[in-house]
Amino acid sequence: MTKPAVLAAASFPPFTMQPLEAAFAVHRLWDGLDDTAAGSIRALATNTLFGRLGAEVMDRLPALEIIANFGVGYDNIDVAAAAARGVMVTNTPGVLDEEVADLTLGLLLSTIRRLPQAERHLRAGLWEQGAFPLSPTLRGRRIGILGLGAIGKAVARRLEGFGVDIAYHGRTRQEGVAYPWYPTVLALAEAVDVLVVVVPGGAATAGLVDAAVLRALGPQGVLINVSRGSVVDEAALIAALQDGTILAAGLDVFAREPHVPADLVAQDNAVLLPHVGSGSVATRTAMGQLMIDNLSAWFATGRALTPVAETRHLQR
Ligand code: NDP
Repeated sequence: MTKPAVLAAASFPPFTMQPLEAAFAVHRLWDGLDDTAAGSIRALATNTLFGRLGAEVMDRLPALEIIANFGVGYDNIDVAAAAARGVMVTNTPGVLDEEVADLTLGLLLSTIRRLPQAERHLRAGLWEQGAFPLSPTLRGRRIGILGLGAIGKAVARRLEGFGVDIAYHGRTRQEGVAYPWYPTVLALAEAVDVLVVVVPGGAATAGLVDAAVLRALGPQGVLINVSRGSVVDEAALIAALQDGTILAAGLDVFAREPHVPADLVAQDNAVLLPHVGSGSVATRTAMGQLMIDNLSAWFATGRALTPVAETRHLQR
Protein backbone atom coordinates (compact mmCIF):
# COMPACT_ATOMS: atom_id res chain seq x y z
CA MET A 1 0.00 0.00 0.00
CA THR A 2 1.30 3.49 -0.82
CA LYS A 3 2.11 5.51 2.24
CA PRO A 4 0.32 8.87 2.49
CA ALA A 5 2.59 11.80 1.57
CA VAL A 6 3.36 14.03 4.55
CA LEU A 7 5.23 17.33 4.35
CA ALA A 8 7.46 18.04 7.33
CA ALA A 9 7.45 21.84 7.52
CA ALA A 10 9.97 21.96 10.34
CA SER A 11 12.69 19.61 11.44
CA PHE A 12 11.63 17.43 14.35
CA PRO A 13 13.91 15.58 16.80
CA PRO A 14 15.12 12.17 15.56
CA PHE A 15 12.78 10.37 18.00
CA THR A 16 9.87 11.94 16.07
CA MET A 17 11.38 12.04 12.58
CA GLN A 18 12.16 8.32 12.56
CA PRO A 19 8.64 7.00 13.33
CA LEU A 20 7.17 9.71 11.06
CA GLU A 21 9.33 8.49 8.17
CA ALA A 22 8.51 4.86 8.99
CA ALA A 23 4.76 5.50 8.78
CA PHE A 24 4.54 8.00 5.90
CA ALA A 25 6.25 9.14 2.71
CA VAL A 26 7.86 12.21 4.23
CA HIS A 27 8.95 15.21 2.18
CA ARG A 28 11.15 17.75 3.91
CA LEU A 29 10.17 21.33 3.10
CA TRP A 30 13.74 22.53 3.66
CA ASP A 31 14.92 20.24 0.83
CA GLY A 32 12.58 22.09 -1.59
CA LEU A 33 9.25 20.95 -3.01
CA ASP A 34 8.41 20.86 -6.72
CA ASP A 35 4.82 21.15 -7.97
CA THR A 36 4.42 17.40 -8.54
CA ALA A 37 5.46 16.62 -4.97
CA ALA A 38 3.32 19.51 -3.65
CA GLY A 39 0.30 18.03 -5.44
CA SER A 40 0.73 14.71 -3.64
CA ILE A 41 0.93 16.09 -0.09
CA ARG A 42 -2.04 15.01 2.06
CA ALA A 43 -0.72 16.11 5.45
CA LEU A 44 1.50 18.78 6.94
CA ALA A 45 3.46 18.14 10.13
CA THR A 46 4.53 21.39 11.71
CA ASN A 47 5.49 23.29 14.86
CA THR A 48 6.01 26.87 15.98
CA LEU A 49 9.61 26.85 14.70
CA PHE A 50 8.20 26.91 11.16
CA GLY A 51 6.64 30.30 11.91
CA ARG A 52 3.27 31.37 10.58
CA LEU A 53 1.46 28.75 8.53
CA GLY A 54 -0.98 30.75 6.42
CA ALA A 55 -3.34 30.33 3.48
CA GLU A 56 -0.53 30.75 0.91
CA VAL A 57 1.14 27.52 2.11
CA MET A 58 -2.19 25.64 2.12
CA ASP A 59 -2.94 26.91 -1.40
CA ARG A 60 0.29 25.33 -2.67
CA LEU A 61 -0.95 21.93 -1.43
CA PRO A 62 -4.21 21.11 -3.29
CA ALA A 63 -4.54 17.60 -1.79
CA LEU A 64 -3.97 18.78 1.80
CA GLU A 65 -6.37 17.14 4.30
CA ILE A 66 -4.78 17.64 7.69
CA ILE A 67 -2.26 19.82 9.53
CA ALA A 68 -0.80 18.10 12.59
CA ASN A 69 0.88 20.50 15.01
CA PHE A 70 3.69 19.42 17.33
CA GLY A 71 2.55 21.46 20.33
CA VAL A 72 -0.63 22.41 22.15
CA GLY A 73 -0.54 26.09 21.18
CA TYR A 74 -1.50 26.52 17.52
CA ASP A 75 -1.56 30.29 17.13
CA ASN A 76 1.13 29.69 14.46
CA ILE A 77 -1.55 28.19 12.17
CA ASP A 78 -4.25 30.16 10.34
CA VAL A 79 -7.02 27.82 11.51
CA ALA A 80 -9.75 29.89 9.87
CA ALA A 81 -8.03 29.42 6.49
CA ALA A 82 -7.68 25.69 7.21
CA ALA A 83 -11.34 25.32 8.20
CA ALA A 84 -12.43 27.26 5.10
CA ARG A 85 -10.54 24.72 2.96
CA GLY A 86 -11.91 21.73 4.89
CA VAL A 87 -8.44 21.00 6.31
CA MET A 88 -8.37 19.33 9.74
CA VAL A 89 -5.96 20.79 12.35
CA THR A 90 -4.70 18.81 15.35
CA ASN A 91 -2.53 19.72 18.34
CA THR A 92 -1.01 17.80 21.26
CA PRO A 93 -3.02 18.50 24.45
CA GLY A 94 -2.79 16.43 27.61
CA VAL A 95 0.72 15.01 27.20
CA LEU A 96 2.61 18.12 28.31
CA ASP A 97 0.51 19.76 31.04
CA GLU A 98 2.45 18.43 34.03
CA GLU A 99 5.84 19.12 32.41
CA VAL A 100 4.98 22.73 31.60
CA ALA A 101 3.51 23.19 35.10
CA ASP A 102 6.75 21.86 36.65
CA LEU A 103 8.72 24.35 34.57
CA THR A 104 6.36 27.17 35.57
CA LEU A 105 6.93 26.50 39.27
CA GLY A 106 10.68 26.33 38.67
CA LEU A 107 10.57 29.65 36.87
CA LEU A 108 8.39 31.23 39.57
CA LEU A 109 10.74 30.18 42.38
CA SER A 110 13.81 31.13 40.33
CA THR A 111 12.38 34.58 39.70
CA ILE A 112 11.28 35.38 43.24
CA ARG A 113 14.18 33.77 45.11
CA ARG A 114 16.66 34.90 42.42
CA LEU A 115 18.19 31.42 42.02
CA PRO A 116 19.98 32.03 38.67
CA GLN A 117 21.45 35.28 40.03
CA ALA A 118 22.60 33.48 43.21
CA GLU A 119 24.25 30.75 41.17
CA ARG A 120 26.00 33.32 38.98
CA HIS A 121 27.25 34.99 42.18
CA LEU A 122 28.80 31.72 43.36
CA ARG A 123 30.31 30.79 39.99
CA ALA A 124 31.85 34.25 39.64
CA GLY A 125 33.74 33.63 42.91
CA LEU A 126 31.86 36.46 44.64
CA TRP A 127 30.71 34.42 47.66
CA GLU A 128 34.15 34.68 49.27
CA GLN A 129 33.84 38.45 49.04
CA GLY A 130 30.36 38.59 50.54
CA ALA A 131 27.02 36.86 50.93
CA PHE A 132 24.48 37.00 48.12
CA PRO A 133 21.87 39.68 48.92
CA LEU A 134 18.64 38.50 50.55
CA SER A 135 15.84 37.84 48.09
CA PRO A 136 12.10 38.61 48.01
CA THR A 137 9.79 35.77 49.08
CA LEU A 138 6.90 33.68 47.81
CA ARG A 139 5.51 33.57 51.35
CA GLY A 140 2.28 35.49 51.83
CA ARG A 141 1.81 36.12 48.16
CA ARG A 142 -1.41 35.91 46.17
CA ILE A 143 -1.06 34.33 42.75
CA GLY A 144 -3.30 35.19 39.81
CA ILE A 145 -3.51 32.67 37.00
CA LEU A 146 -4.41 34.20 33.64
CA GLY A 147 -5.88 31.18 31.80
CA LEU A 148 -6.99 28.42 34.16
CA GLY A 149 -6.99 25.71 31.47
CA ALA A 150 -5.22 22.36 31.42
CA ILE A 151 -1.79 23.82 32.21
CA GLY A 152 -3.16 26.58 34.47
CA LYS A 153 -4.93 23.97 36.61
CA ALA A 154 -1.75 21.86 36.83
CA VAL A 155 0.06 25.01 38.01
CA ALA A 156 -2.70 25.72 40.55
CA ARG A 157 -2.52 22.16 41.96
CA ARG A 158 1.19 22.64 42.61
CA LEU A 159 0.68 26.10 44.12
CA GLU A 160 -1.82 24.68 46.62
CA GLY A 161 1.07 22.69 48.07
CA PHE A 162 3.00 25.92 48.49
CA GLY A 163 0.29 27.38 50.72
CA VAL A 164 -0.34 30.54 48.70
CA ASP A 165 -3.68 32.10 47.73
CA ILE A 166 -4.84 31.56 44.16
CA ALA A 167 -7.23 33.55 41.94
CA TYR A 168 -7.85 33.48 38.19
CA HIS A 169 -9.18 35.17 35.10
CA GLY A 170 -10.59 33.57 31.96
CA ARG A 171 -13.42 34.74 29.75
CA THR A 172 -15.86 32.72 31.84
CA ARG A 173 -16.16 31.75 35.51
CA GLN A 174 -15.65 27.99 35.77
CA GLU A 175 -18.19 25.70 37.47
CA GLY A 176 -16.73 23.73 40.37
CA VAL A 177 -13.60 25.91 40.72
CA ALA A 178 -13.27 27.37 44.21
CA TYR A 179 -10.60 30.00 43.42
CA PRO A 180 -11.97 33.54 43.11
CA TRP A 181 -12.62 34.58 39.47
CA TYR A 182 -12.04 38.12 38.26
CA PRO A 183 -13.89 39.34 35.16
CA THR A 184 -10.93 41.23 33.68
CA VAL A 185 -7.14 40.85 33.65
CA LEU A 186 -6.88 44.29 35.22
CA ALA A 187 -9.14 43.34 38.14
CA LEU A 188 -7.10 40.18 38.69
CA ALA A 189 -3.81 42.11 38.58
CA GLU A 190 -5.16 44.59 41.16
CA ALA A 191 -6.02 41.70 43.50
CA VAL A 192 -2.72 39.74 43.29
CA ASP A 193 1.02 40.35 43.32
CA VAL A 194 2.07 37.50 41.02
CA LEU A 195 0.50 37.02 37.59
CA VAL A 196 1.10 33.65 35.87
CA VAL A 197 0.17 33.84 32.19
CA VAL A 198 -1.03 30.56 30.56
CA VAL A 199 -3.60 31.66 27.97
CA PRO A 200 -3.28 30.68 24.29
CA GLY A 201 -1.59 33.15 21.93
CA GLY A 202 -3.26 34.67 18.87
CA ALA A 203 -5.27 37.79 18.08
CA ALA A 204 -7.72 37.40 20.99
CA THR A 205 -5.00 37.59 23.65
CA ALA A 206 -2.46 39.87 21.92
CA GLY A 207 -1.24 42.53 24.36
CA LEU A 208 -3.62 41.36 27.11
CA VAL A 209 -0.91 42.10 29.67
CA ASP A 210 -0.23 45.79 29.03
CA ALA A 211 1.23 48.75 30.90
CA ALA A 212 -1.96 49.20 32.98
CA VAL A 213 -1.94 45.54 34.09
CA LEU A 214 1.74 45.80 35.06
CA ARG A 215 1.02 49.00 37.04
CA ALA A 216 -1.81 47.20 38.82
CA LEU A 217 0.55 44.37 39.85
CA GLY A 218 2.59 47.02 41.65
CA PRO A 219 6.18 47.46 42.84
CA GLN A 220 6.26 44.02 44.51
CA GLY A 221 4.61 42.47 41.44
CA VAL A 222 6.03 39.49 39.59
CA LEU A 223 5.04 38.46 36.05
CA ILE A 224 5.55 34.87 34.89
CA ASN A 225 4.81 34.17 31.22
CA VAL A 226 4.87 30.60 29.87
CA SER A 227 2.16 31.10 27.23
CA ARG A 228 3.16 33.15 24.18
CA GLY A 229 5.22 36.32 23.91
CA SER A 230 2.39 38.00 22.02
CA VAL A 231 0.21 38.05 25.16
CA VAL A 232 2.50 40.57 26.88
CA ASP A 233 3.32 44.07 25.61
CA GLU A 234 7.08 43.45 25.63
CA ALA A 235 8.05 47.14 25.39
CA ALA A 236 5.79 47.97 28.35
CA LEU A 237 7.28 45.06 30.31
CA ILE A 238 10.86 46.20 29.68
CA ALA A 239 9.92 49.72 30.85
CA ALA A 240 8.18 48.30 33.94
CA LEU A 241 11.27 46.22 34.85
CA GLN A 242 13.58 49.19 34.27
CA ASP A 243 11.68 51.74 36.36
CA GLY A 244 10.51 49.45 39.19
CA THR A 245 6.83 49.47 38.22
CA ILE A 246 7.06 45.73 38.94
CA LEU A 247 9.66 43.78 40.91
CA ALA A 248 10.62 41.01 38.50
CA ALA A 249 9.62 38.81 35.57
CA GLY A 250 10.20 35.19 34.61
CA LEU A 251 9.73 34.54 30.89
CA ASP A 252 9.83 31.34 28.83
CA VAL A 253 8.36 33.00 25.72
CA PHE A 254 9.05 36.16 23.74
CA ALA A 255 7.39 38.25 21.05
CA ARG A 256 9.89 37.46 18.26
CA GLU A 257 11.55 34.15 19.19
CA PRO A 258 14.38 33.30 19.11
CA HIS A 259 15.20 37.01 19.27
CA VAL A 260 15.20 38.39 22.81
CA PRO A 261 15.53 42.20 23.10
CA ALA A 262 18.91 43.34 24.48
CA ASP A 263 17.09 45.63 26.93
CA LEU A 264 15.42 42.55 28.44
CA VAL A 265 18.65 40.56 28.61
CA ALA A 266 20.22 43.53 30.40
CA GLN A 267 17.65 43.40 33.23
CA ASP A 268 18.97 41.64 36.34
CA ASN A 269 15.39 41.35 37.64
CA ALA A 270 14.33 39.10 34.74
CA VAL A 271 14.83 35.34 34.50
CA LEU A 272 14.81 34.35 30.83
CA LEU A 273 14.40 30.86 29.38
CA PRO A 274 14.56 29.81 25.69
CA HIS A 275 10.98 28.41 25.41
CA VAL A 276 11.69 25.15 27.23
CA GLY A 277 8.30 24.64 28.93
CA SER A 278 7.67 21.22 27.40
CA GLY A 279 11.33 20.65 26.59
CA SER A 280 12.19 17.31 28.18
CA VAL A 281 13.05 14.26 26.05
CA ALA A 282 10.14 12.29 27.52
CA THR A 283 7.50 14.97 26.92
CA ARG A 284 8.74 15.96 23.45
CA THR A 285 8.70 12.24 22.55
CA ALA A 286 5.08 11.97 23.72
CA MET A 287 4.14 15.11 21.75
CA GLY A 288 5.75 13.72 18.59
CA GLN A 289 3.96 10.41 19.04
CA LEU A 290 0.58 12.12 19.48
CA MET A 291 1.21 14.17 16.32
CA ILE A 292 1.95 10.93 14.42
CA ASP A 293 -1.01 9.12 16.00
CA ASN A 294 -3.30 11.93 14.83
CA LEU A 295 -2.06 11.46 11.25
CA SER A 296 -2.38 7.66 11.44
CA ALA A 297 -5.91 7.83 12.89
CA TRP A 298 -6.97 10.36 10.25
CA PHE A 299 -5.76 8.25 7.35
CA ALA A 300 -7.15 5.02 8.85
CA THR A 301 -10.56 6.26 10.00
CA GLY A 302 -11.14 9.86 8.86
CA ARG A 303 -11.16 10.92 12.50
CA ALA A 304 -8.34 12.70 14.30
CA LEU A 305 -7.55 11.99 17.96
CA THR A 306 -7.15 15.56 19.15
CA PRO A 307 -8.67 18.00 16.66
CA VAL A 308 -8.61 21.69 17.62
CA ALA A 309 -12.01 23.21 18.40
CA GLU A 310 -12.17 25.25 15.16
CA THR A 311 -11.96 22.15 12.91
CA ARG A 312 -13.68 19.52 15.08
CA HIS A 313 -16.69 19.58 12.72
CA LEU A 314 -14.46 18.08 9.99
CA GLN A 315 -14.34 14.69 11.76
CA ARG A 316 -15.78 12.16 9.34
P1 NDP B 1 -6.29 25.41 27.46
O1 NDP B 1 -7.05 25.66 26.22
O2 NDP B 1 -6.52 24.18 28.24
O3 NDP B 1 -6.51 26.64 28.47
C1 NDP B 1 -6.48 27.97 28.05
C2 NDP B 1 -7.14 28.84 29.11
O4 NDP B 1 -7.04 30.20 28.68
C3 NDP B 1 -8.59 28.54 29.35
O5 NDP B 1 -8.84 28.45 30.74
C4 NDP B 1 -9.36 29.73 28.75
O6 NDP B 1 -10.48 30.02 29.56
C5 NDP B 1 -8.32 30.85 28.82
N1 NDP B 1 -8.48 31.80 27.73
C6 NDP B 1 -8.53 31.52 26.40
N2 NDP B 1 -8.68 32.63 25.70
C7 NDP B 1 -8.75 33.67 26.59
C8 NDP B 1 -8.91 35.07 26.47
N3 NDP B 1 -9.06 35.65 25.27
N4 NDP B 1 -8.92 35.81 27.59
C9 NDP B 1 -8.77 35.23 28.79
N5 NDP B 1 -8.61 33.90 28.99
C10 NDP B 1 -8.60 33.13 27.88
O7 NDP B 1 -4.75 25.56 27.04
P2 NDP B 1 -3.48 24.91 27.73
O8 NDP B 1 -3.54 25.14 29.19
O9 NDP B 1 -3.29 23.53 27.23
O10 NDP B 1 -2.31 25.79 27.06
C11 NDP B 1 -2.28 27.18 27.20
C12 NDP B 1 -1.19 27.77 26.33
O11 NDP B 1 0.09 27.52 26.91
C13 NDP B 1 -1.06 27.16 24.94
O12 NDP B 1 -2.02 27.68 24.04
C14 NDP B 1 0.34 27.56 24.56
O13 NDP B 1 0.36 28.83 23.93
C15 NDP B 1 1.08 27.67 25.90
N6 NDP B 1 2.08 26.62 26.04
C16 NDP B 1 3.40 26.97 26.23
C17 NDP B 1 4.36 26.01 26.38
C18 NDP B 1 5.78 26.38 26.62
O14 NDP B 1 6.67 25.59 26.26
N7 NDP B 1 6.08 27.50 27.23
C19 NDP B 1 4.05 24.57 26.27
C20 NDP B 1 2.64 24.32 26.11
C21 NDP B 1 1.72 25.32 25.99
P3 NDP B 1 -11.82 30.66 28.94
O15 NDP B 1 -12.16 29.82 27.74
O16 NDP B 1 -12.81 30.61 30.06
O17 NDP B 1 -11.47 32.07 28.56
